Amino acid sequence: MYRIDHWIDGHTVSSNSGRTGNVYDPATGQVQGTVGFADLSEVDKAVATAKAALPAWRATNLSRRAEIMFHMRELVAANRKEIAALLTKEHGKVTSDALGEVARGLENIEFACGIPNLMKGGYSEQASAGVDVYNIRQPLGVVAGITPFNFPAMVPMWMFANALACGNTFVLKPSEKDPSASMFIAELLKQAGLPDGVFNVVHGDKVAVDRLLDHPDIAAVSFVGSTPIAKYIYETGTKNGKRVQALGGAKNHMLVLPDADLDMAADALVSAAYGSAGERCMAISVVLAVDTIADELVSKVKDRIPNVVVGPGNDPSSEMGPLISGEHRDKVAGYVAGAAGEGATVVVDGRDGAPTGGFFLKPSLIDNAKPGMKCYDDEIFGPVLTVVRVKSYEDGLKLINDNQFGNGTAIFTRDGGVARQFQFDVNVGMVGINVPIPVPVSYYSFGGWKASLFGDLHMYGPDGIQFYTRSKVVTSRWPDPRTSKVDLGFPQNR
Ligand code: NAD
Repeated sequence: MYRIDHWIDGHTVSSNSGRTGNVYDPATGQVQGTVGFADLSEVDKAVATAKAALPAWRATNLSRRAEIMFHMRELVAANRKEIAALLTKEHGKVTSDALGEVARGLENIEFACGIPNLMKGGYSEQASAGVDVYNIRQPLGVVAGITPFNFPAMVPMWMFANALACGNTFVLKPSEKDPSASMFIAELLKQAGLPDGVFNVVHGDKVAVDRLLDHPDIAAVSFVGSTPIAKYIYETGTKNGKRVQALGGAKNHMLVLPDADLDMAADALVSAAYGSAGERCMAISVVLAVDTIADELVSKVKDRIPNVVVGPGNDPSSEMGPLISGEHRDKVAGYVAGAAGEGATVVVDGRDGAPTGGFFLKPSLIDNAKPGMKCYDDEIFGPVLTVVRVKSYEDGLKLINDNQFGNGTAIFTRDGGVARQFQFDVNVGMVGINVPIPVPVSYYSFGGWKASLFGDLHMYGPDGIQFYTRSKVVTSRWPDPRTSKVDLGFPQNR
């Protein structure tokens, strides 16, 4: 048994709230640690520390901030196996997947290394006689990040890399289910040369989140998690005058057209639906199969499922690990149990033969689903792929556009013209063309549409720089005694 506490002012600070949460090993189902839950005073202490660190950090020159990000880049790369091991230990994901998470997070630190270039403003010389106008981007102040269980390292990196590089100080409230990675990252940031107090971690639940949302010294909140909580965070944070970006849940559809390479599509479906046990916001959870190829596609996916090796994440032969908790495993299993009663066809039932002892399910495949069925309508967030048979491209597109979520989508086809039309027509924030999980590289930004994102700016990349800074426009004239005179007219440029 181990204990996780907060990280404030560059060191571990014990929680004295008397409230704790269990940290499970999802592969065994056993409690392996406890995490201290912050009370109001502990959140306040972290925010006060970040506020005290702000003046010196925002005055730190851009080269030094970039240098710290470069150091951090090297430290995360050097410790990627250690971070991955923590992810496997508490989240359950298999090692190869955990290493992928670290690599995709690292991209964001690499992006932030370019901060001197990214913070450049514009300059207009001679906007009027002897007058120059320019804009500068300045940090917001103390900003908070609230993150979900499914990417305990990558999602914090989406946030803090740009936030810190822009000159903000940061308070992270990671998921209470897998809190260790954030503590490891905090230690690496210290080793990288980040001054104490610039990055802080408070653990906990709604109590900590609500205090961050109403704390007067928090300028902005970045959130990633489920849609009901994202909506709550956006509404509460903005009501309290904060800038908020809140990314929510998803139900990502992949449309497979008759001209697609069906083997390639089936490989992509199995990888994208069952990778990380389906606990990815960019997982494919629905395949829209055009009627003429639906039987063949379903049979190809079905044939591949028995080859997916389900087991503990730290077993090198495992391809899919357990789910995050027993409660979540049971909820996901409930969708499979209820599917036949709703009129769908359970082709593969992942409850059969799942390893015992941990929070395991095997992959499930549900055919003949339709809107109105829970297995289609809800975000399941587990290893369940649902097939909806459609008559045409237009039918498939309509289902995607009618869906409440708009995080990711994909089309599989050999027809470039149709793919281009899809990209034009579809109301979804991230689109893959023969790419099942189109998570943007770090120099673009990540974000869905509709109920998958509340706020205006997407996360990381150029939008991240916008989110964590505000623009100031300066109009400047240097005194020239030759032109000085009294003039009470409104200043004009001509
Ligand atoms: P969650 O919404 O339960 O929790 C996210 C965070 O909010 C955690 O830190 C949690 O402690 C906190 N929280 C939970 N309940 C709260 C409440 N009532 N009040 C205030 N704070 C609360 O999400 P999760 O289960 O950790 O993560 C899975 C969800 O996240 C899925 O819906 C998934 O689609 C989504 N997700 C979205 C993205 C994206 O980029 N859009 C990325 C990853 C995960």
